[in-house]
Amino acid sequence: MLAGKTALVTGSTSGIGLGIAKALARQGANIVLNGFGDAEGPKAEVAALGVKVGYHGADMSKPSEIEAMMAHAAQTFGRVDILVNNAGIQHVARVEDFPVDRWDAVIAINLTSAFHTSRLALPAMRAANWGRIINVASVHGLVGSAEKSAYVAAKHGIVGLTKVTALETATTGVTCNAICPGWVLTPLVQKQVDAKAAALGLSNEEATKRLLGEKEPSMQFTTPEELGELAVFFCSAAGNNVRGVAWNMDGAWAAQ
Ligand code: NAD
Repeated sequence: MLAGKTALVTGSTSGIGLGIAKALARQGANIVLNGFGDAEGPKAEVAALGVKVGYHGADMSKPSEIEAMMAHAAQTFGRVDILVNNAGIQHVARVEDFPVDRWDAVIAINLTSAFHTSRLALPAMRAANWGRIINVASVHGLVGSAEKSAYVAAKHGIVGLTKVTALETATTGVTCNAICPGWVLTPLVQKQVDAKAAALGLSNEEATKRLLGEKEPSMQFTTPEELGELAVFFCSAAGNNVRGVAWNMDGAWAAQ
C-alpha cells in the first residue's frame, strides 16, 4: 500500500516509534529512523522487512539538527511523504518543584520539534498533493494528570498543532492527525513503574497493576503494534478525509 513512499519517524530507535516504523515498513514504505542509543539494531529490524532504511541522529531539542535531518531525508529519499512526530520524554514533579531546564526540554522535544519537522516537510507534501503528518500525542493531550505539567501542556499543544495543520491543508491531499495512547509498556513507562515500585516497596508486577489501575479501566497496555496499525490506517486511502482528529487508544482512560 505504501510502496515508493518514505516515512520519517522521530524517536524511532525504541518503543512506539519503532513499532510505527515497522508497521509502515510492512506496507512497503522506506523508513528514516531517528533517536538516541543503538541505531544498528532498529535499522536491521526495519531492513528485514524488505524496505530501504536510513537513520539520522538529530536531537529533537535542537532546531538546527532537525533542519539537517529533514535535508538529509529529502536528499536520500527524494521527499518525506509520511512524517510521524513521535520523539518524547517525560519528567514528573509538582509545578512548584519542576526544574526549569526539564520544562524547557519537554516542551522542545514533545511539542516544538513537531512544529519544525512539519514546517519543513509541508512544502514538498503540498507540491506532491499527498502527505500524512501523524503526531503521537497522548491521552495527556486530552486530560491531565498531577505532576506532569510540562508533558500535559506539550501534549495538549500538539493536539492543537494537529488541528491547525489539518485546517491549513484541508483542501489538499495532505492530512494531519494525532494518536493518543494510554499506557504503553515502553522504556518511558517502565521508568514510572520502577519509581512506583521503589517508592511503595512493591514488586514490578504489583507496581504495574497499580499504575494501570489508577488510570486505565481496561487494565491492559496498548502495544506499539496496535498503534502502528492506526498509523497505517491514517496513511490508507480510507483515511483521505480523516483530518484533525485526536484518536485515543487508551483502554477507556479518557472515557471516565
Ligand atoms: P521511548 O522512551 O521508548 O522512546 C522515545 C524515543 O524518543 C527514543 O527513540 C529516544 O531515543 C527518542 N528521543 C528522546 N529524546 C530525543 C531527542 N531529544 N531527540 C531525538 N530523539 C529523542 O518512549 P515511548 O513510550 O515509545 O514514547 C514515544 C512517544 O509516545 C512519546 O511522544 C510519548 O510521549 C508518547 N506516549 C507514550 C506513552 C506510553 O505509555 N509509553 C503513552 C502516550 C504517549
